Amino acid sequence: MKKSSAVKENLFLSVEQTRKKEAYVRAYLRRHPDESGIIFCATRRIAETLCKKLSGEGFPVLSCVEGMPELRRMRALEAFTSGPGRIMIAAGAFRMEKEKTDIRFVIHYNLPPSPEDYCREAGYAGLDSERAECILLFSRQDIAARRMQLKNLKNNGEYTEKEWESLRREDEERLQEMIAYCTREDCLRVFLQRYFGEKPEENCGNCSFCCGAVMQDGWEKEGLLSEGERGKSGPKVRPADTLEEEERILFEQLRILRREIASEKKVPPYIVFSDRTLADMCRKFPRTEAELLEVNGVGEYKLEQYGEQFLKVLHGSDAAQP
Ligand SMILES: [Zn+2]
Repeated sequence: MKKSSAVKENLFLSVEQTRKKEAYVRAYLRRHPDESGIIFCATRRIAETLCKKLSGEGFPVLSCVEGMPELRRMRALEAFTSGPGRIMIAAGAFRMEKEKTDIRFVIHYNLPPSPEDYCREAGYAGLDSERAECILLFSRQDIAARRMQLKNLKNNGEYTEKEWESLRREDEERLQEMIAYCTREDCLRVFLQRYFGEKPEENCGNCSFCCGAVMQDGWEKEGLLSEGERGKSGPKVRPADTLEEEERILFEQLRILRREIASEKKVPPYIVFSDRTLADMCRKFPRTEAELLEVNGVGEYKLEQYGEQFLKVLHGSDAAQP
C-alpha cells in the first residue's frame, strides 16, 4: 500500500466546519501574508468567482482551472513558482510540472471526492519539510454537490454496464471515507494512516482534533464561527475542564513550559504538545520516561525532544534520572 503524502509530520491537518468559507479564506490570507499557498475548489465556477473577488481586494491570487487555454495555464504556474507570496486557486485536474517546495498552506474550499485525491493535493504543501498547513473547509452542502458530480459522470461505452456500476460504487465508498474524515471526532492523521493501511500507535498531536481547544479559541476570537457552529466543531469539553483542582495548577505550569519551548523553537505551542496531552500528563503524573510514553500524544520523538523538561516540572528535583 502506498504511503499517503498528507500524513508527513510537518503538515498540520485541519478540518474546519464552516459555511463562511470566503470569510475564513480572507482572514487566513491576512494572517499569512507573503506565504505561498494553493486553494482547491470543486468546480471551475467556484474557483473563478473566488479568484475574482480576492484579486479585487488586492490579494495576490492566480487561477489554474480545467479547460483554460494552455498558454494562460502555463503563465499562471510560472508566476506561482517564480517566488513566494502568491496564492493559486485551482479546480479540476491540477498539476505542476515544476516543483515548488515552499508552499505553506493548502486549503480545500470544498470536499474532495476521495482521501486519495485529498492526500495528493494536500501533499503539495511543505515539500521543504518545514511546517505547513492543510485545511479542509467542510460544509454539509458539499456532500450533495459531490454526489451530483458523480451522478453526472457518463459511461462512453468504455465499460460494460456491470463494470460501470462497480466503479460508481467505489466512488461512493471513497466519498463516504472522505465524509468520515471530516465528521469523525478523532485524530485526522491516524484516520488517513489507517485508510492507507498503516498502523499508527498514537494520536499525532499536530491536527485540529489533537489541538482542538487551541483552534476553537482562535476561531472564536476571529468571529469566524456562526452561532450554530459554536461548540459544535472541535471537542465539546476543554481538556483542562476535566481536571481536578490540583491537577489544574500543574496543567498551568506545564503550559508555561510549553510556551517557553514554543517561543524558543518559534513554533505554535500546540506543536510541542496539545492541551489534551498536557491534561493527560497531569492525570497520569508520569515519573519516568517510560511512564511519560504512556501519555496520549507523547511518542518517541517528542519524548526525546521534551521529555526531560516536562518530567522536571512534574516532579521538580525528584524527577527520575533517565
Ligand atoms: Zn492528530
